Amino acid sequence: ADPDAMFKEGWLAAVRKERPLDEPVVTRFPPEPNGYLHIGHSKAIAINFGFARFHGGKCNLRFDDTNPEAEEEVYFTAIKDIVRWLGFNPASIMHSSDFFDDLYELAEKLITLDGAYVCHCTDDELKDQRGGTDLKKKHERYACRHRDRPTEESLAEFRAMRDGKYKPREAFLRMKQDLSDGNPQMWDLVAYRILEKPHHRTGDKWRIYPTYDFTHCLCDSFEGITHSLCTTEFILSRVSYEWLNNKVDVPHKPMQREYGRLNITGTVLSKRKIKKLVDDKIVGGWDDPRLYTLVALRRRGIPPGAILSFISELGVTTATINIQIVRFEQSIRKYLEMTVPRLMVVLDPIPVIIEDLPDDYHEEIENAFGPKDVDMGIHKLPFTKKVFIERDDFREVDSKDFFRMAPGKPVGLLKVPYPVVATSFKKDDATGLVTEIYAKYDKPPEGEKIKKPKAYIHWVADASEHGSPVKCEVHVFNPLFKSENPDAVEPSFMADLREDSLKVYPNAMAEVGLKEIMERAPWPEEAGEKKDKCGYESVRFQAMRMGYFCVDKDTDEASGKIILNRIVSLKEDAGK
Ligand code: ATP
Ligand code: MG
Ligand code: MG
Repeated sequence: ADPDAMFKEGWLAAVRKERPLDEPVVTRFPPEPNGYLHIGHSKAIAINFGFARFHGGKCNLRFDDTNPEAEEEVYFTAIKDIVRWLGFNPASIMHSSDFFDDLYELAEKLITLDGAYVCHCTDDELKDQRGGTDLKKKHERYACRHRDRPTEESLAEFRAMRDGKYKPREAFLRMKQDLSDGNPQMWDLVAYRILEKPHHRTGDKWRIYPTYDFTHCLCDSFEGITHSLCTTEFILSRVSYEWLNNKVDVPHKPMQREYGRLNITGTVLSKRKIKKLVDDKIVGGWDDPRLYTLVALRRRGIPPGAILSFISELGVTTATINIQIVRFEQSIRKYLEMTVPRLMVVLDPIPVIIEDLPDDYHEEIENAFGPKDVDMGIHKLPFTKKVFIERDDFREVDSKDFFRMAPGKPVGLLKVPYPVVATSFKKDDATGLVTEIYAKYDKPPEGEKIKKPKAYIHWVADASEHGSPVKCEVHVFNPLFKSENPDAVEPSFMADLREDSLKVYPNAMAEVGLKEIMERAPWPEEAGEKKDKCGYESVRFQAMRMGYFCVDKDTDEASGKIILNRIVSLKEDAGK
């Protein structure tokens, strides 16, 4: 998919035309640094950064850090990293707190213009003034007793709020909007509140902090934002956004427009719920590959380019999009199919001894890394008397509908010139598991044609002097939840957890090509992933017949511990 398609036509193209075409585009991506970003945020990132890039403009990363109670340093770093990983470079990194002085000045200006007043009402009083919360007993909205106090008095009280006269919740600055308007965003919103918390950037300089409604439109103006793109839950806020910018008459007037959110179904995205999964050790951390945070998708090996192409396929309109995990995975699979090399990995190995080959038999088989029509070079595959195959690919008793390895049936080993035929096997009496298979090489006599076997299976040679096999631990992930909507499950989403969301194969074996692609990654160079600093997650490949995999970040090559994560299966439903 053309990642720029969404800017060329449709909703975003129309939004561009609402401003003069000779005005340089300036956008911003404005996360609150209070958590890790998730898949939904990648839509906001792709739209804001992509729109600016497409139109030759610029996009800032703005940390909307007006609530010191929720914000932490780690999130700033994590958000910066993930934006870069997705392939975008912010024109400037801004903070709402960079503008605390300017915002304060405009708050005083607003009071002077009779556009704001200091209010001492409680939360309950505020709700009652807005018509009450009981739907059956709704009453007329009414102004609070502080609304008509003289502006000089409000100004003095606002300064007193700033200087420490009041405790949290004892005083607010409220905008004087229009109570007769049907839009709740016009019902005298709070502009400033008291929070006795030091701020990570301004320390204890402030004890009053501006709200989102007061801050966002003004910061957009300060930064020269032309198109302030946000999600549709802010539609009603557009009126207060414009009201405030007009009332204090900022010289630059940005334009807010709203697009539909992207949700993934079958998982949870809320910070509180993910935190519970982390705290209860259901998952290993915020970057557990079963989650849909961007750090988790990154660790699972999903390429940044695949996420951008997924967003682009969905397109942008005002409609909220709900996407099932299977549909997301289908898009990732399509992307990986043509971009990653192919190797063989055996997850649960059993040895096969090809008895008629000499003990020191060693053949080098040339094998292409790429799919048929993509050249990714070749590598050499040792083929020896003893190889390992997948336990699932062997049956003790043959049957007509089974085409893989069974006694008496010829089966192909991928890339090996002739088929092999199992002759007998050994079992462990205690476990009942097959421990060793004996086979013969089905090389036809000189002059005779090879009988093509019905199926080919993957394998890895036992050739330690040639570095084979590469031992590894493989992690296969399934959805964390049973249902499409874990949020709706009673008594809680925790009752919807699947038992089998992680399957570990501790004794897996990869062919030697794995070492080679670890040196050559990323294949190809991805947006955001530069050779000098690409992580293990960008070592991606298709394990033939088994799925797409990447190397996990906990891999430690020095001590020989290699962990592979399955990114997605080869086909929908495979391996569940
Ligand atoms: P909260 O942090 O209050 O849970 P949030 O994550 O939606 O809410 P921000 O951290 O402010 O809020 O998000 C930054 C930007 O990303 C906002 O412009 C927001 O509209 C956008 N965004 C958040 N979630 C999604 C989503 N699911 N789809 C598209 N855009 C989103
Ligand atoms: Mg957020
Ligand atoms: Mg928010």
